[in-house]
Amino acid sequence: MKVKNITFIGMGLINSSLARAIKRNNFADKLVATSKSSKTRDRVKELCLVDHVVETYEESVKDADLIVIGIPVAAYRDVFIKIKPYIKKNAIITDVGSVKKSIIEDIKNLIPKDVNFIPGHPIAGTENSGPDAGFADLFEGGWCILTPDKQTSKKELEIVKNMWKSVGMNVDIMSAEYHDMVLAITSHIPHIIAYSIVGTVANLEERLKQEVTKYAASGFKDFTRIAASDPIMWRDILLQNKSSILDMLELFKKDLSSLEQAIKREDSLFLEKLFTKTRAIRKEITSKI
Ligand code: NAP
Repeated sequence: MKVKNITFIGMGLINSSLARAIKRNNFADKLVATSKSSKTRDRVKELCLVDHVVETYEESVKDADLIVIGIPVAAYRDVFIKIKPYIKKNAIITDVGSVKKSIIEDIKNLIPKDVNFIPGHPIAGTENSGPDAGFADLFEGGWCILTPDKQTSKKELEIVKNMWKSVGMNVDIMSAEYHDMVLAITSHIPHIIAYSIVGTVANLEERLKQEVTKYAASGFKDFTRIAASDPIMWRDILLQNKSSILDMLELFKKDLSSLEQAIKREDSLFLEKLFTKTRAIRKEITSKI
């Protein structure tokens, strides 16, 4: 089942990819978009990503049946304050933010009683930003996590599920808390490690730094790709998911310290056993992607 009017608030990598995919598959009759800056709005017009680009948040939501928020998580509150009086009765709002529990807490009092908020997070992305970085196939074959609450009606949930299925995603439902814990270990901590190791290189003395840059072929290059991700977005994600990230970091530091001790005592059996186990886990993970 398709929707009549869909509105995208924010037109960066994720929402512009979604708009492209929805335009291609006809899931909505009319696509409307807005973004904070006139530069992005003008670019969205030039790229013909939606039917109408409007200047204000208020104007963008007034006729929308389904609103998709695609902006940094720390910016939600200000935007919800602006759109609240203009959202249509029975409209559905969903989002694509990488953190769930804190944003739900932040905005739950700003959702009108007759409006359904169904938080979501498509697990797909690249290190690039902005409307030019988006592409229609971004979501193909990936998973989207939705974190509805007990009051969410089945009918509205089905509409959001169908939107993600229509762009090629599998959909999973879980609590916001569980989502944040899973994402802390699968996405947020890998980003912390990549940012941290590139930071370590930046602090090396000049000559050594040049050698690292010169010889950083596949290993370092592949491993640190995500350190080029948007700084503001990742600042917000790490601060908003602080508690799950700190819990998972404790576990990670414990395991890293065991590895460090094993190297110190030249415990080849420990290293071999660990790497054999991680190799099998890594193969299992990639076979599912
Ligand atoms: P992006 O390409 O950097 O685009 C960000 C969008 O948010 C732009 O439209 C930008 O508007 C707008 N924006 C920036 N600051 C704002 C503010 N203070 N108030 C209102 N709007 C603001 O970002 P993205 O990668 O699409 O990420 C959007 C959301 O998707 C984030 O919540 C992120 O957690 C989530 N997400 C990202 C990925 C990923 O891999 N990138 C994956 C899954 C989910 P202007 O351009 O007009 O300034």
